[in-house]
Amino acid sequence: MPSPISRRDAVIAIAAAAAAPRVLARSAPLAPAIPAPSPLGLELPVADLTLPPLPYAFNALEPFIDAETMEIHHDRHHKAYIDNANKALAGTPWADKPAGQIIANLEELPDDKRTAIRNNLGGHVNHAMFWTLMAPPSGGTPGAALSKAITSAFNTFDGFKEKFAAAAASRFGSGWAWLVVKGGALAICSTANQDTPLMGEKIAGCAGTPILGLDVWEHAYYLKYRNKRADYITAWWNVVNWPAVEARYAEAMK
Ligand code: MN
Repeated sequence: MPSPISRRDAVIAIAAAAAAPRVLARSAPLAPAIPAPSPLGLELPVADLTLPPLPYAFNALEPFIDAETMEIHHDRHHKAYIDNANKALAGTPWADKPAGQIIANLEELPDDKRTAIRNNLGGHVNHAMFWTLMAPPSGGTPGAALSKAITSAFNTFDGFKEKFAAAAASRFGSGWAWLVVKGGALAICSTANQDTPLMGEKIAGCAGTPILGLDVWEHAYYLKYRNKRADYITAWWNVVNWPAVEARYAEAMK
């Protein structure tokens, strides 16, 4: 008779075993903490962009987001956005301009570069932020300042979650749901494809400084959740890195 170990226990045991070498490696000098908010590389010339390392193991977000999805999402999808952004601007003066400046001024790009940069540099900026907005499940909640801003804008924390989840669920096709700081207040919106609120209202249909974002492309959830985007959204709340969101909120309010 098989031992009565639950699937959840098994997942935890596997995750612990996989995490062990990282713990040992850290008994050497401690790796510097990831600054929060960690830089998005917006100040870097596009030609110098590289794939930022995932700040945790591929399996760190289990059981809510599976390791295979994380590996493909980070190592292949995110890398492709960077490679394609580099390729699109290679040999042009735009390659030496800071990524953040280009993202905020897409209309200045030559017509034959604009779509590739909108999709791929947008993809890089969105994913660089997304990885930092998640962390191993801690059951955490927003700190005092952000909690106050959330209840001020959405009445209750549950009300905020419902509205954000609705923005994520109702985005047709591929895109993102966002919590942004705009004019000193919080707002929720969504964008299509790899558009970011940093591109501005005219292009992205949503503007402000993003402090929380949820990727609702099928590549973010289809292996585990298949077509059930709503289940992925519900599970994702368990891995939100609230201290990182709080830090972005503080930075955006400066
Ligand atoms: Mn993605």
